[in-house]
Amino acid sequence: MTSQRRPYFDEHTEPVATRIAAGLHKIGLAMKQQAWQQANEEGLSATQGQILAALVEHGPLTGTELSKRLGVTLPTISDSVQVLVQKNLVTKSPDPRHPRASLLTPTKKGAEQGARARSWPEFMAGAVTDLSPEEQRAFFTGVMKMIRSLQEQGLVPLSGMCVTCTHFRPNVRAGATPHHCAFVDAPLAEDQLRLDCPEQESAEDTARQRIWEQFMRPR
Ligand code: SF4
Repeated sequence: MTSQRRPYFDEHTEPVATRIAAGLHKIGLAMKQQAWQQANEEGLSATQGQILAALVEHGPLTGTELSKRLGVTLPTISDSVQVLVQKNLVTKSPDPRHPRASLLTPTKKGAEQGARARSWPEFMAGAVTDLSPEEQRAFFTGVMKMIRSLQEQGLVPLSGMCVTCTHFRPNVRAGATPHHCAFVDAPLAEDQLRLDCPEQESAEDTARQRIWEQFMRPR
């Protein structure tokens, strides 16, 4: 007699999108825990470490620029910067571009701590190398599309990515490097697209949508 029951996992498996979201949540918790632990070892909060890392990589910056880059509110940035100044890890100087703003620059000690803070997410890179090259490429594309979606919802700062950049020319040629960066006038392969480019300039809404549609055009 054949069983009429459906296979167990047909009825007890959540959609793959739900399981991906759950997996990302677990990864996010691991990253938070690592950042907290490593910041603690440096005598910093995770936000203070992120600020020092951003100033080492992209500085000097104003508080507003840090807020946009890190996706953290301006009052939180201001509180953290105040502590960093008190600890002699950051100095303030007048911003020649905006008379009422201050430029934040790491001191020598702040730059050393910022350089170490930049390596906090490296433990994750170790896990990524367990993926095959094909898996890494597919994962990179998926991550980029997810970040872009979160950016369009206003949940991630609109900065750093080629696919939202005014200099990005998607799918302009056939072959291994279909894209082009007009800023440096150089071809780009799919897996060379940037997620955190310091030269990125976000395109206006309509242009951004057009760039995305050209990027997603079937090849
Ligand atoms: S400037 Fe940077 S973000 Fe913009 S297209 Fe060139 S590499 Fe990409």
